[in-house]
Amino acid sequence: MNSTVNKSTNTYHLALTGISCASCVSRIEKALQAVPGVQDAQVNLIEKSAIVSTKNEISVDVLIHAIKAIGYEASVINNLEEEESTKTSLEQSYYRHLTYKTALATIVGIPLLVVGMLNIMPSFSTPLGHQINLGLCLLTFLTLVYSGGHFFIGAWKALRTHAANMDTLIALGTGVAWLYSLVAILFTKWLPPLAQHVYFEAAIIIIALVNLGALLELRARRHTSSSIKRLMSLQPKTARVIREKEEIDIPIAQLIIGDFVRVRPGEQIPVDGIVIEGQSHVDESMITGEPLPKEKNINDKVVGATLNKSGSFIFKTTHVGKDTILAQIIQLVQHAQNSKPALARLADQIAGVFVPTVMIIAILTALIWFNAGIEPRVAYMLVTSMAVLVIACPCALGLAVPISVMVGVGKAAEHGILIRQADALQQACQLTTIVLDKTGTITQGQPQVIGVYPAQNWDVQQILTYAASLEVGSEHPLAEAIVKAAKEKGYSLLPVTNFQAISGYGVNGSIQEKTVWLGNSKLMTLQKIPTNPTLENQADHLAKLSQTPIYIAVENQIIGIISIADPIKSDSKAAIIQLQQMGLKVIMITGDHHGTAQSIASQVNIHDVMAEVLPQDKAKKIAELQALKQRVGMVGDGINDAPALAQADVGFAIGTGTDIAIESAGIILMGGSLQGIVDAMLISRHTVRNMKQNLFGAFIYNIIGIPIAAGVLFPFTGLLLNPMIAGAAMALSSVTVVANANRLRFYHPRKVI
Ligand code: ADP
Ligand code: MG
Repeated sequence: MNSTVNKSTNTYHLALTGISCASCVSRIEKALQAVPGVQDAQVNLIEKSAIVSTKNEISVDVLIHAIKAIGYEASVINNLEEEESTKTSLEQSYYRHLTYKTALATIVGIPLLVVGMLNIMPSFSTPLGHQINLGLCLLTFLTLVYSGGHFFIGAWKALRTHAANMDTLIALGTGVAWLYSLVAILFTKWLPPLAQHVYFEAAIIIIALVNLGALLELRARRHTSSSIKRLMSLQPKTARVIREKEEIDIPIAQLIIGDFVRVRPGEQIPVDGIVIEGQSHVDESMITGEPLPKEKNINDKVVGATLNKSGSFIFKTTHVGKDTILAQIIQLVQHAQNSKPALARLADQIAGVFVPTVMIIAILTALIWFNAGIEPRVAYMLVTSMAVLVIACPCALGLAVPISVMVGVGKAAEHGILIRQADALQQACQLTTIVLDKTGTITQGQPQVIGVYPAQNWDVQQILTYAASLEVGSEHPLAEAIVKAAKEKGYSLLPVTNFQAISGYGVNGSIQEKTVWLGNSKLMTLQKIPTNPTLENQADHLAKLSQTPIYIAVENQIIGIISIADPIKSDSKAAIIQLQQMGLKVIMITGDHHGTAQSIASQVNIHDVMAEVLPQDKAKKIAELQALKQRVGMVGDGINDAPALAQADVGFAIGTGTDIAIESAGIILMGGSLQGIVDAMLISRHTVRNMKQNLFGAFIYNIIGIPIAAGVLFPFTGLLLNPMIAGAAMALSSVTVVANANRLRFYHPRKVI
C-alpha cells in the first residue's frame, strides 16, 4: 500500500511584516525558494504569511534570515489563536493610523484642489505668490512625510535590494510631482512660462486616494477571513470533567487525554472522544455540513465543537488541544487559504514584471513628450509620466485571486468540504468525469453478513468459524463483517498460521494444518480450485441482489459462500443524478464482483462500471481516462484508494468526519455524503468565476488607463488622464476586487436546512 503520509516534508508557517504588494509576494517567494532544502514557498498577501515546505528539517532561522535579507520581517507562527488575536490588534492599529493619514491628506489636499481649479492663487512670479507657494511647499512636504511616508520607506527598502514595487510607483509619481513643483518655485526662470506650474495638490490627492483605497480594502477584507474566526469560536471555553468522582468545570486547555467529560443537553462538546455512558443526538453540521443530528450511543465517537441536542452523556477524551478535529480543520483551512491556485501564480508572475515594465513605459512616455510633444513640454512630460506611474500600480492584481480563494475555501468549510489545496478548488469545476469508488463511497461502507450457504457436508458454524478465524488478521471492511457475524453467533475462533492477505482477492492461512482460502471467485480461479456449480448459481443470484459473495475453500475444495451486503447511502442516487445533470460522466470503480457492482450501479443510475479492478490498478484506470482527455475527479475513502486519488485531477476523500489527514486528496468531504461533491463543484465554479472577474477588475483599469495616461489619445482628442483621476481609478480597482470577492460570501450551493 502506498503511504499516504509523507513524513519527510516539513512545513513552516511564518508571519510576515512589511509586505505590501503583489511584487513583494514574488520576491519573498523567490528568496525562500533559493534557500537550500526548500521545496515550496507560498506567500499570502492577505494573510501576510508564508507557508514553506522543506525536504528535511531545517532551521527556521535560515528562512527568517532569507526574508530579512531582502528587507522584510518574519516570525514563526506557533499558536494560531494567539496569532489571530495579535494580528487583529495589529490590524486595528494599522487601520487607525491609516485613517489619520488619509484624513490629513484629504484636509490638505481638497482646499489645494479647489484653489487650483478656481485659479485664484497669485502667480509665484509675484513676491506674495512666491511666499505662499513656499509655505505650501513646506506644508505638502510634511503631509507627504506623514500621510505617504510608508510608500517612500517601502520604495527605499526595495531600492536597497535593487528592486521596485508598488510603493516605488507611488513614491516616484508623487515625489517627482513635488520636486518639480519645488523647482518651479525656486528656479522659475529655468522653465518655459507655460510649464511654470505647481503640482502639490496632485501629489497630496493621490496619496489620499491610495490610502483611502487601502482603508476600504481593509474594511472589506475583515469579512473575508471571518470563516476562520467562526471556526475558532465554535469551541466552548470550559468543560465539565469528572475527576475523583467530582464534577468540576475547567478551561478546555486543561483537559488531558483520558478525562471523563459530562455533556448536558444543549451543550457544545468540548473536545473529541468516545461515549462511555448515556445516549443522545448530536448536531454535527458545523463540521460535516450534514443537517440531520446523529445518534450517539456508547462507543460512538464524538467531535469537539459539535452540539449536543437532547440527551446527556459522558465521554472519554481521545484528542485534546492541537490534535482535535476542529484544530486540524482550522489549520487545514488556513493552509488552503494561503495556498495558491495556478491562476494566482500567473497573476503574481505578471505582477512581478509589471512594475519594471511600467517604469519603462513611464520613462518612454516622458522621453516622447519631451522630444515630440507640444509646449509646455516639460509640464506635459511630467503629467503624463506621473499618471502612468500611478494608474499602473498593480496593487489589486496581487489581491484578485487570493481573496477569492480565501472566501471560497471558507465557504466550502462551512459546508463540510475541506479544501487542502487551492488548486483543487480551481480545478474542481473543470472536471468532466467523476469516478466513484463503490465501498464506503456510494455505499455506507458498513457491510454485514446476510447469509451463509454451505456446500454439501458442511455447515454454517464450520464456515463462519474458519472464515472469521482468518479474517481477524485482515483490516478489510468485509473481514470485519465476517468476524462480527461469527462473534454474534458465539463461535469461538481457531488459531491461524501463515496468514496472508492478497490485496483485491482475499486472504489465506492455515487452520488446523489445513490450507484455507477466502475471497472472491477470481481468487478461486487463481488457486485452480474446482468450481461448485450449485454455489456458482447461488453466487450469481446473490450478486443480482447487490450482495457480495465470498467463497471459502479448504484444501482445494469450496466449502461454501458467505454473502455480504453493504447498504447504499440514502442520498447517493440523488447526488449522482445531480452530477449527471451538471454534464458529468459518472463511473463506478470497484474491486467487487461484476454482478454485484452492476446491480448496485443500476440502483444509483450509474451506467459505466469498472468492476473487479485490483486496488493497484485503480490509478491506472484513472490515467487511461485522462489519456482520453477527460478531467477526472476520483472519489474514494482515501485508504486503499490513495494512489487513484493522487492520480486524479482532483481527489475527493470521503471522510468519516474523523480522519482529515488524507494527504492524497485535494478535497475532503467531512460529511461522507456524495452531495458534498456537487457542493464542492458548485462552490468551485463560483469561486473561479469570482477570481476571473477579479482579475478582470484588477487589469481593466491598468490596461485602459496606461495608454490614456501616456497620452495616446491626445493627438486625436486632446484627452489626457489627470494624475489624480489615475489615483482614484487605482483605489477603485482594489475596492472593486475586494467587494466582488465579498459577494461570494453570500453564495449557497444549497439551502442548509
Ligand atoms: P473495493 O474496490 O470495493 O474497495 P477491494 O479491492 O478492497 O474492493 O476488494 C475487492 C474484492 O476482493 C472484494 O469485493 C472481495 O471479494 C475480495 N476481498 C478482498 N479482501 C478480502 C478479505 N479480506 N476478505 C474477503 N474478501 C476479500
Ligand atoms: Mg475500497
